[in-house]
Amino acid sequence: MTKQLQSQWLLRWVLPACASLALCGLLFLSLSWAAARSDEVAVLRQRDLVTLTVAKLKAGIAHDQESATVWDDAVRNARAGNIEWIDANLGSWMHSYFGHDTALVLTSDLVPLYQFSADEGYAPTSGDLRGAYLPLAETLQRRLVAGDTDGTGEKILSIGETDLSYVGFRPAIVSVKPIVSDTGDVEQTTGSEMLHVAVRFLDGDLPTVIGKEYEFSELQFAAARPGDGKLAFVPLKGRDGAIFGYFQWKPFRPGHHVLEATTPALLLAFIALFAGSSLAGGAIWRRTDRLIASRAELSHQASHDALTGLANRSHFNEELDRRLIDAVDDETHGVLFIDLDRFKAVNDTFGHPVGDKLIGLAAARMRDLLPEALIARIGGDEFTVLLQSDDALDAEKLADALVHGLKAPFEIGTAHVVIGASIGVALARGPCEPAELTRKADIALYHAKAAGRNAYAIFGDHMDELLRKRRALENDLRSAVETCSEIETFYQPVFSASDGRLCSLEALARWKHPILGYISPDQFIPLAEEMGLIREIGSLVLEDACRTLSELPEINVAVNASARELEAPGYALRVLTTLARWNLSPDRLEIEMTESATVDDDGELGRTISTLRTAGVRFAIDDFGTGYSSFSRVQKVEVDRIKIDKSFIDEMHRSDSRALVVAMIDMARAKGLKITAEGVETDEQREALESIGCDDLQGFLLSRPLPREAAIAYVSGASLGSVEPKFAPDLRPGPIPLQV
Ligand code: C2E
Ligand code: CA
Ligand code: CA
Repeated sequence: MTKQLQSQWLLRWVLPACASLALCGLLFLSLSWAAARSDEVAVLRQRDLVTLTVAKLKAGIAHDQESATVWDDAVRNARAGNIEWIDANLGSWMHSYFGHDTALVLTSDLVPLYQFSADEGYAPTSGDLRGAYLPLAETLQRRLVAGDTDGTGEKILSIGETDLSYVGFRPAIVSVKPIVSDTGDVEQTTGSEMLHVAVRFLDGDLPTVIGKEYEFSELQFAAARPGDGKLAFVPLKGRDGAIFGYFQWKPFRPGHHVLEATTPALLLAFIALFAGSSLAGGAIWRRTDRLIASRAELSHQASHDALTGLANRSHFNEELDRRLIDAVDDETHGVLFIDLDRFKAVNDTFGHPVGDKLIGLAAARMRDLLPEALIARIGGDEFTVLLQSDDALDAEKLADALVHGLKAPFEIGTAHVVIGASIGVALARGPCEPAELTRKADIALYHAKAAGRNAYAIFGDHMDELLRKRRALENDLRSAVETCSEIETFYQPVFSASDGRLCSLEALARWKHPILGYISPDQFIPLAEEMGLIREIGSLVLEDACRTLSELPEINVAVNASARELEAPGYALRVLTTLARWNLSPDRLEIEMTESATVDDDGELGRTISTLRTAGVRFAIDDFGTGYSSFSRVQKVEVDRIKIDKSFIDEMHRSDSRALVVAMIDMARAKGLKITAEGVETDEQREALESIGCDDLQGFLLSRPLPREAAIAYVSGASLGSVEPKFAPDLRPGPIPLQV
C-alpha cells in the first residue's frame, strides 16, 4: 500500500473508528457504572422490602388469627367441641379468607381437637405439624400461665408465638394464639385456654402472592443460599437467630434497564459519530491531498520549464550537483549542451507562437530519444542533458542520434520548419566538479558550432587550449574596439550590370589583428554580437563610411547593420546625427540588413526603419533567399533593394537555380525594388545576371573589397574613367580562418 493510500485509510476509517469507539466506549462505561450503582441500591432496597414483608407476614398471620380467636363464641364453641362451628370460623374460613394453609385447634393439653389442611395435593402429617407447633404452643402456654401480656396493646389483643419452622420438609410460618374471650364474659383459667395454630407455607403460593403485590419477579423460597449471581436473596432467620432459609428473586435492575434502553441510542450515536468523523476525515484528507498536490505542482513549477515541461536550469544544476557528488568511482556521467541552430531565424520569421511550438516539439523529440535522461531547458533554445551509467557510455551515439533527430523537419501548422542542433558533450568518470563538467560541455558545444553546426563535439583537452585562444581573442577584440585602432573599413565597389558603371560602395568591417593579421568579419562580427560590442563596431564603420561619402560626392555607400544594432533604441538617431555631422544627404546611405532582421517590422525595428526611410536613408535585404519565406516577407517590409545571396549566384549554371534567381528578380521588379547580385566571380554569371535584368553586380570578378584610401583612389579614378572596373586591385589576402 502506498504511503498516500495508507494516510487516506487512516484518516477516513481508522481514526474515525477509534475516536468514535473511544467516545462511545467511554459513554457506555460511564452509563454501565451508573447502572451498576443504581442496581446495587435497588437490590438493597428490595432486600429490605422482602425482609420487611416477611416480618409483616408473620405479624399478619397472628393478626388474622386474632380476628377469630379473641371471641367469646370461639371460646364457647371450642370448649363445646363444635367442630362445624370451628371449621366454619377457625379452620376453612381462615383458609378461604386469609389464605392460611393449615389451621389447628389444640386443647389445653396441646392435643389437636380440630385440624384443617388446604387441599394442595399434600397434607402435612400430624407428626410433622406437631413438631412445628409444639415448641411454640408450650412457650405460649407458659407465658399464659405466667400472665405475660408482653406485646399486647390496642392492636394486638392477645399474646402469641410465631416462628419459621419446617413442617416436615416444608418451610412455613407457624403462629400459635390462645382462643380467648373478647368481652371477659366467658370464664377461662389461665394456662387452660385452647390454642389456635395457623400455618402458612413459604414454598406454596405465598411467594407468588407477595411477588405480585410487591412486584418481585420469580420470588421463591430456597433452603440453601442461591448460587446464581443474577438472583437476589435475603436470609430468613428463625427466633433463635439461625438462618432458616432464603427468599430469592430475580431483582429488578433499573440501571440495567436504562442501559438496555440506551444501547441502541449509543449504537446510533456511534454510527453517527463514525460517519461524521469519517466524512470529516475524508474532507481533511481531500484537502490535505489537494494541498499536497498543489505543493507538488508548485514545486514542479519551480523546478520545471513551463513551455516544455522539462527541468529548468536550477533543478538541473541541483540534480547534477547531487549525482556527481554521490557518484561512485567507476560510474560515468555525461553532460550534453544542446543549442538549436537557426531557431532565432524561425522565431523572427514566423513569430513567437510558432517558435514556442517548435521548442515544445524539439523538446518532445529529445525526450523520445532519451527517455531515461534528465533533460533541462536552460535558455530560449538551449538545452542540457545529464546522462548516467550506460547512457553516458553511449553518449556519442546518443549525441549523434539527437543531431539527426533534430535535423528532421518539424510541421507546425502549414509551416515546414527545418532547424538543426549543435551539441557539446563532456564525460566524467567517478565524482567530479559539476561546474567543471558543464564548462567542458559548453566548450565542446562551441566547437560543434564552429565546425559548421548540425554536429556534435566531445570535449577533449585540446579544446581548452582553443578556448584559451578564444578568450585571448575576445580580449583583443575588446581592446581593439575600445582603442578604435585595429578596426578598419574596406569598401567593395558595386557596379551597374547594364553598363559596368561604378555606382556604390559597400563598407565592410575588417579587423587587423597585430599578430594574426586580418580577421574575417564572418568570425569577429558574431563574436562582437555575443560580447555586446557590435554597436561600437557599427558606429566605427558608419563613421568611416560617412567620412568616405564626404570625400566622394558622386557615390553612395552601403553599410551592414546586424539585427541587434537595428533593434537597439537610438539607432536611427545615431545614423541621422552621424550623417548630419558629415553634412551628408541621408539618401546617399543604404543600410543592409539580413532577412531575419526584417521580421519584427511592428516593433522597435519597424520604427527605426520607417524613421530612417522617411529621412531618405535606403534599406536593402542582404543575403536575400537564405532566410525563411523570403518572398512573402519582402511583401511586408518596406525596403528599397534586395541583395541576392552569393550561394544562388554560385549555382546559376544550374537551370533551377537560375530560375530561382529569375523569380527573385521578377518579384523585386514587381515590388519596384532594386536588385544587386552578390559574389559575382565569373563572366558567365555577370552576363547571365545582366541578361535577366539584375540592376547591380558585386563580386571578386569586378572588385575585391579595398582599403579606404585605395577605394577612394579607385572611385576617383573610375569617375575620371582612368580605371577599368574589372581590374580593381585586390589589396588584401582572404580572411584568416579562425580556429575556434
Ligand atoms: P555581406 O554583407 O554579404 O558582405 C559580402 C561579403 O561577401 C564580404 O565578405 C565580401 O568580401 C564577400 N564577397 C564579395 N564578393 C565576393 C565574391 O565574388 N566571392 C566571394 N567568395 N566573396 C565575395 P566579408 O567582407 O568577409 O564580410 C562578411 C560578412 O560580414 C558580410 O557579408 C556582412 O554580413 C558582415 N559584415 C561585414 N562588415 C560588417 C559591418 O560593419 N557590420 C555588420 N553588422 N556586419 C558586417
Ligand atoms: Ca552586405
Ligand atoms: Ca551578403
